Amino acid sequence: MERLKGIGVSSGIAIGPALVAIQRTQVIRFPIAPDRVARELSALDRARARSRDQLVQIRERIAQLKGSDLAALFDAQLMMLDDPMLVGRAASVVCEERVNAEWAVQRALDEIAAIFNDVRDPYLHERKGDLHDVAGRLRMNLRDEKGGARDLLQDLDTPCVLIADELTPSVVAQLDWTRIRGFATDAGSRTYHTAILARSLGVPAAVGLHDVSLRIPPGASVIVDGDSGEVIIEPSPADWQEADARARIMKQQVAVPHAADGPVRSLDGVPVVLQANIERSEDVAAAIAAGAEGIGLYRSEFMLVGGPPDMAAEEEQYHVYRQLVERMAPRPVTIRTFDIDERQLARPLVDAALDARWFPEHDRTQRSGHAGLRGIRFGLAQPEILKTQVRALLRAAAHGSLRIMFPFVSSVHEVRTARVLVEEARAELRTRGIEAPAVPIGIMIEVPSAAFTAPLLAREVDFFTIGTNDLIQYTLAVDRMDERVSDRYQPLHPAVLRLLRAVRRGARRRGIPVSLCGEMASDPLFLRLLLGCGLTDFSMTPGALPMARRVVQETSIAEMVHVAAHVFTLGTVEEIDQYLRRAFDHPAEILK
Ligand code: PEP
Ligand code: MG
Repeated sequence: MERLKGIGVSSGIAIGPALVAIQRTQVIRFPIAPDRVARELSALDRARARSRDQLVQIRERIAQLKGSDLAALFDAQLMMLDDPMLVGRAASVVCEERVNAEWAVQRALDEIAAIFNDVRDPYLHERKGDLHDVAGRLRMNLRDEKGGARDLLQDLDTPCVLIADELTPSVVAQLDWTRIRGFATDAGSRTYHTAILARSLGVPAAVGLHDVSLRIPPGASVIVDGDSGEVIIEPSPADWQEADARARIMKQQVAVPHAADGPVRSLDGVPVVLQANIERSEDVAAAIAAGAEGIGLYRSEFMLVGGPPDMAAEEEQYHVYRQLVERMAPRPVTIRTFDIDERQLARPLVDAALDARWFPEHDRTQRSGHAGLRGIRFGLAQPEILKTQVRALLRAAAHGSLRIMFPFVSSVHEVRTARVLVEEARAELRTRGIEAPAVPIGIMIEVPSAAFTAPLLAREVDFFTIGTNDLIQYTLAVDRMDERVSDRYQPLHPAVLRLLRAVRRGARRRGIPVSLCGEMASDPLFLRLLLGCGLTDFSMTPGALPMARRVVQETSIAEMVHVAAHVFTLGTVEEIDQYLRRAFDHPAEILK
């Protein structure tokens, strides 16, 4: 028995045998039934054939564009594809170990890579990149084929717990969570999209466990506690019993309906708006059940993950947005334009814009959150993609209350350019005889430069939404995905609080509404402080709404204003944290 401690990010207990996804590749090892071996082998053959066709096409294209010397680079990859050490070895692994082909390709790759590592020849060293590229392509083609990993999951007769080094949001969005009871990962933090998605799916999850994926052998019994962040490997019978009993109690609690009707007021009568953050249109029901007064953040980029290949087309998007606003009506819906970067999974988009073949698969599935060409920057660099989305949004706005929000804004110039694109999109619709309604245009304040220039930005837009998940990481220079610095990710840092106050003041001076949609609001301690800072409009994961409702109803905002004023005189996170806890536990003492 071994206990590991991570960060609990999605409440609940998951118990079962471990399904282990190996390092950095998102390859999952599935044991397969004997009658499935032949199917896996033919899938491998077809993947090789498709990979070959793709490589030949790429070589021809490069030969046309840049000449045959450069095109010859792909001859090496074609040779690797035919080398028995790769596909041949993978086929043997499928037969000998009775495992899925994707895992077998990875095993063969690891074995060859180990040989390359020992070779000093620099030319051969460079070929290692080609080898990874070829293996990545093979795996991608295996995965794309119907009957890939998702199909194998249907064959699992025992539900399991997924253990991985890192799970990208796209993988989480695609897995069948009726078969997988929960997950634990080496990497991660509370605000990474994987954690956010787990909460919205109601899947128990613990992250930031450093090396859990290496410590747990496939098939070992595990318990993942999504509240304490603890993972128990090969638990004792007593641990089993306790976890099982707790899991039952939690299920009963979840089944209790939430008393969540109408707008909420603080103890001293101030109206507070509570809306939901969602990633999938199916989550509308959960948002309404939890009492959401609207959708404060729809992360539209999730729609592209695992969706049909033409999901980036205007018509498909229009139907999704229209359905969303109609189902929420008369409540408002704020839709954020795609917050992706060019390397992310959004295959339909990337294919359309950049030609996905130039991005090896592992690059496209990498974690997000980088300060590169993402959010509005990506939209402005690919105006046709942004305009397609805006046209779909403007059309959908005719069917309900819709607001458009741009992510990752860092300057007034970006906002002006984006607004010009909105007008162009509107004009394009007009030429098609469609007169779109006026739609509020807002921005996310999640980059320090935007927070510092809030009074200037407030002149350009109709509303602000503060994204503390990113704002904290960029203000404190702490990667929200890197578990080694997760203790430095401090929502109560004086710099963060000052920025929040500056944004609220900037918005108030111009009379535009400001809400906050970061995960910070779903913590009762932080929420009270935010109320004291003058923020009264929040959006959060639906699961946190009942808690937020209760906190608001029990909080006197006038008292919190005093508490917040004192907080702004304190110098460290520890002092602020201790003071807030005392203020909430013994208000009479603090407020006399
Ligand atoms: C944020 O940054 O706070 C936010 C809500 O956006 P995301 O978590 O999707 O980056
Ligand atoms: Mg963000």
